[in-house]
Amino acid sequence: MQLLWPESAAHALALRAAHPGARFVAGGTALQQEWGDRHRAPAGCSLVPLHRLSALQGIELVDGATSLRIGAAMALETVRTHALVREHAPLLAQALAQLGALGVRHLGTLGGNVGWRWGDSTPALLVLDAQAECAHAPGQRLPLAALLAEAELPLIVALHIPLQPGHPPAQTVFEKAAARAAFAPARLRFTLRWSAGQLSHAACAAPDLPARLLVNALAWLQAHPGRRGPAALAGLRQACADDGLPTQQPEDLAHLAARLIAGHCGLLASAIEEVQ
Ligand SMILES: Cc1cc2nc3c(=O)[nH]c(=O)nc-3n(C[C@H](O)[C@H](O)[C@H](O)COP(=O)(O)OP(=O)(O)OC[C@H]3O[C@@H](n4cnc5c(N)ncnc54)[C@H](O)[C@@H]3O)c2cc1C
Repeated sequence: MQLLWPESAAHALALRAAHPGARFVAGGTALQQEWGDRHRAPAGCSLVPLHRLSALQGIELVDGATSLRIGAAMALETVRTHALVREHAPLLAQALAQLGALGVRHLGTLGGNVGWRWGDSTPALLVLDAQAECAHAPGQRLPLAALLAEAELPLIVALHIPLQPGHPPAQTVFEKAAARAAFAPARLRFTLRWSAGQLSHAACAAPDLPARLLVNALAWLQAHPGRRGPAALAGLRQACADDGLPTQQPEDLAHLAARLIAGHCGLLASAIEEVQ
């Protein structure tokens, strides 16, 4: 294994470009799961460690307190417990509280969680309209939703969560849905956000299903006010399928997401109503 230590984010990009196959690594807790022996990197692999880069550190309010900047190399537990995150982005703190064990949260980073593509933080960041500061585009903020739709993620330097000074954090929900069995891994990471009493954002992620906004599900809800019960479930399931969620068993994630949306919006019929 070869470690290619960068001196800056731009240097990290250059190192990876000069070493085909080299991978960025931060905490290594997700990357190691790809290795046959999880305690040892495969022979011949090249890694570009990011966690010591100063540009990827820090949690602060920027732009006149209209944006919360979180360095990509910040440990998940540091992010979860940080006063600014708890005040301005409680949804993110709530999502991270359900991530792994404390040891994993001390090693794993926010950038690595996003780089993993279906980490717990990603649906939360999506409904918070997060933007990414990237090494290849200094000075710009790129919408995270668009980056996650790309085949390859760029090197993320920091995540920015836009804030509305004077407004309290929006009403939000975070759920990790799993099978009813001990130690069952999460099937779906799922978030909702309301603005002025209206559902404004829905997002989810699952293993092998990169995080995404559920734009079709939201549009369906807006187009069918008052629809509830089985009709709401069927419409939402189709809309979630249009958002790219699988409908095939054993993981009918479109149905699971439809039930979560309908449940949180009070659209589920009682069991008695459903059989009538
Ligand atoms: C026992 C265990 C339990 C876990 N439980 C959970 C869980 O419940 N929920 C969950 O979400 N995750 C879980 N994970 C996965 C993992 O720990 C987290 O996703 C963690 O946030 C990954 O961060 P990292 O810094 O270790 O990433 P790394 O492993 O270093 O990197 C992960 C990926 O992101 C890329 N990457 C890293 N940093 C950046 C960056 N700045 N910009 C762009 N790409 C980058 C890497 O190239 C790699 O592809 C678990 C892992 C273990 C070992």
